[in-house]
Amino acid sequence: MDLTGSAAGARKANAARPDRIVALAGNPNVGKSTVFNGLTGMHQHTGNWAGKTVALAEGCYTQKGQSFTLVDLPGAYSLMAHSPEEEVARDFLCFASPDATVVVCDATCLCRNLNLVLQIMEITPRVVVCVNLMDEARRKGIRVNLDAIAARLGVPVIGTTARKKRSLAALADAVSSVIASEAPAPRRLCYPAPIETAIEMLEPLLAARLCGRLNSRWVSLKLLEGDQTLLRALNERLGSEFLLDAPLAAALGEADAYLSAQGLTPELRKDKIVAALLSEAERICQGAVTHDNADYAAADRRLDQLLTSKRTGYPVMLLLLALIFYLTIVGANYPSQLLAQGLFWIQDRLTSLFMYLGAPDWLHGALVLGVYRVLAWVVSVMLPPMAIFFPLFTLLEDAGYLPRVAYNLDCPFKRCNACGKQALTMWVGFIILYLV
Ligand code: GDP
Repeated sequence: MDLTGSAAGARKANAARPDRIVALAGNPNVGKSTVFNGLTGMHQHTGNWAGKTVALAEGCYTQKGQSFTLVDLPGAYSLMAHSPEEEVARDFLCFASPDATVVVCDATCLCRNLNLVLQIMEITPRVVVCVNLMDEARRKGIRVNLDAIAARLGVPVIGTTARKKRSLAALADAVSSVIASEAPAPRRLCYPAPIETAIEMLEPLLAARLCGRLNSRWVSLKLLEGDQTLLRALNERLGSEFLLDAPLAAALGEADAYLSAQGLTPELRKDKIVAALLSEAERICQGAVTHDNADYAAADRRLDQLLTSKRTGYPVMLLLLALIFYLTIVGANYPSQLLAQGLFWIQDRLTSLFMYLGAPDWLHGALVLGVYRVLAWVVSVMLPPMAIFFPLFTLLEDAGYLPRVAYNLDCPFKRCNACGKQALTMWVGFIILYLV
């Protein structure tokens, strides 16, 4: 299905479909795919949607006679378009006009996940929060008061254990009622006074131009933030005259000057907006997410301090990196030798077999000394380091250390127009380079 074109076009195309469109968003690793597979029974295919020429997985499910198309958006931590995945997710929500959006969160770190929920609620009011991994939260002694979170957010909040399909029925019900509800009213996030004033300077003009196609308050905020990727997307979707509009440009200049006079440079504005999102997420979780072990969060914070602070973050990272490389390079020598001995023992047996059968030299040379010997070398040299490095890498990821490495290195990498996450692919590249 191709829904490229304007947001209005996308909505018209949606209306023409017999089924309802439901977007599935969430941070990476929160069980989004498991929810998707649980609801759709893994009946998925890919479709092109508005925003980018990116194929997104989509699948169908039926609820009380109504069919729904669930579209799996790329995992994203925020919608501030720091990465292509975030841009794709944001553009889908803005321009494909889904009938509802399910935001999957991890119950074991709900506060962190609410950052994305709050940002999505600024774009669309039809949101259902799916607090997944409830079994893991219980196991860790984390209690989540779903009703309190729902009351504070102003949208339905459903607890799930996506591995158990039964727990998804309530989620499907909540999606249906959010779509059917007349006027959903999610809680509005308030920013510091100067930002609110600047939004008020822009919003009426934007509301008149957007005619309900996008949330004018959110677009005002993004224009003030100077989000170039959204400006480009708006330009493409709503026509270039949208940004060239003189009264809008004048109002934007005025609001921009006002914020600068208040000491809020574009960079500082972004910081204030992120700070407001984080403190709102903390406020929502206050008292609603509790730990049986009172020291749980404190221990987590101490670990974060050790792994990401300026003084200890780099030394710990270098030590761990050195340890992994040592285990990979030196540790792989022993299994490599054993594997080589075994495989070359087989080569000798193959040579004996070829001689016994009286095979010509060229055949023995091509098959045993050529194909088999090369294969034996490659397997004995490459397999052990990979079998050590990748599981270690996975262990670090599962333990939550790799995102901390990405965080530590984000600043220096940004100076080279890259991002901290690229350090991880560099680690892998380094090992492959060593092996080659
Ligand atoms: P995604 O990256 O958000 O799509 O996450 P996945 O659906 O791939 O899930 C990540 C991991 O969490 C997988 O190993 C899932 O089996 C596991 N998982 C998903 N949902 C649950 C759940 O409710 N409870 C538990 N214990 N594990 C889950």
